[in-house]
Amino acid sequence: MKIAVIGAGIAGITTAYRLSQEGHQVCVFERRAGVCEETSFANLGLSSNANLLTLQTLSSNAGRLGRFWEEKKSLQGSGNWHKPLLRWLWQRAKHSPKVEPSLISLQRYSAQLHADWSSLLKLETEHTVGQIILISDEQAMPEWLTKVEALKAAGISANVLSADDVRKREPALHATLPLSGGIWLPGDQVTNSRQFAIQLRNEALKNGVVFQFQQEITTLEPGAKVRLGTADGQSHSFDHAVICTQQLPAFSPVKTNPTQSFALLDSYTATVPIKEALNAPNHVIHDAASRITISRLGNRLRIQGGMHHSAPDRDPHPATVQQLYNTLDNHFPGAANYPAGTQTWRGVCCFSSDSMPVVGLSSATGISLNLAHGMHGWSLACACADLLAHQIVRKDFPLDARLLAPQRLGL
Ligand SMILES: Cc1cc2nc3c(=O)[nH]c(=O)nc-3n(C[C@H](O)[C@H](O)[C@H](O)COP(=O)(O)OP(=O)(O)OC[C@H]3O[C@@H](n4cnc5c(N)ncnc54)[C@H](O)[C@@H]3O)c2cc1C
Repeated sequence: MKIAVIGAGIAGITTAYRLSQEGHQVCVFERRAGVCEETSFANLGLSSNANLLTLQTLSSNAGRLGRFWEEKKSLQGSGNWHKPLLRWLWQRAKHSPKVEPSLISLQRYSAQLHADWSSLLKLETEHTVGQIILISDEQAMPEWLTKVEALKAAGISANVLSADDVRKREPALHATLPLSGGIWLPGDQVTNSRQFAIQLRNEALKNGVVFQFQQEITTLEPGAKVRLGTADGQSHSFDHAVICTQQLPAFSPVKTNPTQSFALLDSYTATVPIKEALNAPNHVIHDAASRITISRLGNRLRIQGGMHHSAPDRDPHPATVQQLYNTLDNHFPGAANYPAGTQTWRGVCCFSSDSMPVVGLSSATGISLNLAHGMHGWSLACACADLLAHQIVRKDFPLDARLLAPQRLGL
C-alpha cells in the first residue's frame, strides 16, 4: 500500500519504520526541518511510566469530585482556569485510577520491540536501567506498601527498600537528605528516545521511506484514495494516511465529541553535563514528594518535572525550572557542571480525557490515528506502530488494545 504518515515525532518515525518493514511505500510529511523537533525533543524517556503514574495516583480513594479537586490542585500555578480545561479535568476524574493490566502488557510489548529493533539494526542509545522512588515522609510508607502490592499483583517487579538500602544503591545521594525508604523498580528504564528516532529514521530511509520535511499538511480527504493537501498548494494521493501530529489537527476529517475534550499540558526537563561521575546517580531517581525525576543519559543528567496547562506564549514557568535545578543540587551535590551545555526545555503533551493515547483505524475511510500520547509517547511508541501495521491490513493484533481505540472517543 501507499501510505502517508503525518508528523515525524517518535510516533511518526516508529510508525513509518514499522510500515516500511511490511513492504509498504511510505512517505512522511513533517512541517519542521527534522525529526523529533516538538514534544519528542528532550523528554525523560522512561519506558514504563504507567507504573509511576499509577503509583502516584493510586491513593485516590476519593470519588469523582475528590479526584477532580486533587487533579486541579496538582496543576496549580498553571495560570487561568478556562472552561475546556475544567471540563477535561471533570472527564478525567470519572476514571478511577488503577493498575491497568492491558496498558502494562502494551508497555512490555513496546519495550520488547524496542530491544528487538535495536539488536536487529545494531542501534545504540544512551540509557539507564532501574528506577528508585525516594520516600521522605515516614507516614506515607504504609500507603506505598499498598501500591507495591498492587504492582506485584499486576506482575511488575517492585521491592521496598530501607533508607540504608537506598544509600547503598545510590552512594552519591546527599547524606543529610531526609529519607524513610524507597521503592526499587528494576524493570524501568530511561532511554534517549530522540537518539533512537534519529537512527530509526536512517533505517527507514534504507527501506525506501521518503521524508518530506518543511511540508505542512493543511487538508485531508478520506476515501478509497486519501487526498492530502500541503500548505504550498500541492495535492497527493495515498491508499491510507496515519495522523501522528500529537494533537488532533484542524484538518482531521474525524472530530471530537465536544464532551470528550483533550487538554494540553506543559512539562519540563533540564539537561546538564555531569561534572563528577561519582557524584551522579546510578539509576533513575524519582522524588515522590516533588514528583521530580533525575536520570542519567550518557555523560549528562536529565531532570524532569512540573505539569501546567499549556501556554505557549508564556515564558517557561520560572519556579518549576528552578525547582528542577534545586532538586538535582539537593539530591546529588557536585554532580552537575553548570552552566556549559545546560539546556532547559518545555514540551507540550496532549492528554485525552482518560489519559490513554488514541491509536487505531478511525471512523473515516483510509485514515488512522496515532496521537494524544500524554506521558506515554515513548513508552508505547513501538507497540502503537505495530498495532497500526496490523490494523491497516486487517490483521489481528496479539494484545488487547481496546483502551487505545479511537472509537471510545467517538473518533
Ligand atoms: C517533559 C516531558 C517528559 C516526558 N517524559 C516521558 C517519558 O518519560 N516517557 C514517555 O513515554 N513519554 C514522555 N513524555 C511524553 C512524550 O514525550 C510524548 O508523548 C511524545 O513525544 C509524543 O510524540 P508524538 O510523535 O506523538 O508528538 P510530537 O513529537 O510532538 O510529534 C508530532 C509531529 O507532528 C508534526 N506536525 C504537527 N502538525 C503537522 C502538520 N499539519 N503537518 C506536518 N507535520 C505536523 C510536528 O511538527 C511534530 O514534529 C514526556 C513529555 C514531556 C514534555
